[in-house]
Amino acid sequence: MLLRHTPEKIAEREALTIQPAKTCQPVGAMYAALGVHGCLPHSHGSQGCCAYHRSALTRHYKEPVMASTSSFTEGSSVFGGQANLLDAIGNMFSIYNPDVVAIHTTCLSETIGDDLPQIISKARDEGKVPKGKYVIKANTPSYIGSHVIGFANMVKGIAEGFAKKGPKENHINIIPGFVEPSDMAEVKKIARSMGIDAIVFPDTDGVLNGPQTGHFEMYPKGGTTIENLQRIGSSKITLALGPIASGPGAKFLDTSVGVPCELLKLPIGLRATGEFVSVLRHIGGTVSDELELERGQLVDVLTDMQQYFHQKKVALVGDPYQLVSLTEFLTDIGFDVRHVVTGTPGKKFIKRIQEAANTEDINVREASDYFYMHQLILNERVDLIIGNTYAKYMARDLDIPHIRMGFPIYDRIGHQYFPTLGYRGALRLVEKILAALMDYQDKHAPEEKFELVM
Ligand code: SF4
Repeated sequence: MLLRHTPEKIAEREALTIQPAKTCQPVGAMYAALGVHGCLPHSHGSQGCCAYHRSALTRHYKEPVMASTSSFTEGSSVFGGQANLLDAIGNMFSIYNPDVVAIHTTCLSETIGDDLPQIISKARDEGKVPKGKYVIKANTPSYIGSHVIGFANMVKGIAEGFAKKGPKENHINIIPGFVEPSDMAEVKKIARSMGIDAIVFPDTDGVLNGPQTGHFEMYPKGGTTIENLQRIGSSKITLALGPIASGPGAKFLDTSVGVPCELLKLPIGLRATGEFVSVLRHIGGTVSDELELERGQLVDVLTDMQQYFHQKKVALVGDPYQLVSLTEFLTDIGFDVRHVVTGTPGKKFIKRIQEAANTEDINVREASDYFYMHQLILNERVDLIIGNTYAKYMARDLDIPHIRMGFPIYDRIGHQYFPTLGYRGALRLVEKILAALMDYQDKHAPEEKFELVM
């Protein structure tokens, strides 16, 4: 009902964000840390921050997310969080026995100015870090950036913590970006099917999409192992999928241990997946029969069903690298992408979306919010909205079909288990889009036009 008060007239706002299309940096950092096997994420701030980060991930993945906190009180807020973090590091290793502790900061500890390298070094000097165990870190002030930037910062922290310069070997690194566990599994599957020895990091497959075993696992089976992380410095190349989330880690490996990197689009859709496969082929992979079959089936479905996509207007809200590939894919298959909004800041985003849509006649905004997207749709109605769970309010209010994609998705399942990356992922996306459009058509068709075969 509140949405009825959104004015159609768009007023430029600089100081006010209304329902941002993003979440906070530490959520992304915590997610990246969970992609390391045996890792306990640690939130250096108040208990409330940690509770929010954990609950956001738990509600999205429907899995318990383990993490610890420095539990700031008034005292730490005034005098700094060093004492709490030193205690926490000791407690974590002695009580929970992780192989890796991944510390990220929060707004409060960043504002105080806590010096993580100094505190971690003091913890080592005081013998709080047992031999053979690791402490990695990332600065994640949430008053800038978004969960995507937090993910990127922790991925860089992983690279800093493990990469060692060494003679180059035949394996490669793939940084998959802030994507679902199912997408990370799909990336591994594609590389494996092409005969490529790939270290995918971070890797939440098997961590946040695990089976019900009847037993609680503090450290589930999945995640990139320490043995593999110790090899990332001797890889022959790093492929960074989605430059914003994966670029900083890949560039760090390039400049610090001499592993060259290539920044690629996220392989969402036919063209972007083809480009990913092509790069793997150029570095020694062979396109498998399995991939050829998957691609062929996708092309077949697109050919059969393209009349349902033709000139349908669509609005997209989510993370930048997903939106670029999604815009390209939807444009390629006949959609008219009208509005694209991300909460993550980054001026290049606008140009990338215009290139992907092949036009400047498109409403694009970075560092923006759902309120603005709502106004855009009030001014120009669309046939479909693709976005996370928060888009459901305007979809319901305006009676527009809504496909859930991105982070967070609190009211559906499937994203953990079925990818949207690769040819298989594109097929799933197309199937979901078709179902949403056809359901809408069936629901609104007058009696005389309600057809068995559409
Ligand atoms: S205070 Fe900052 S770090 Fe903590 S939950 Fe809020 S935005 Fe995130």
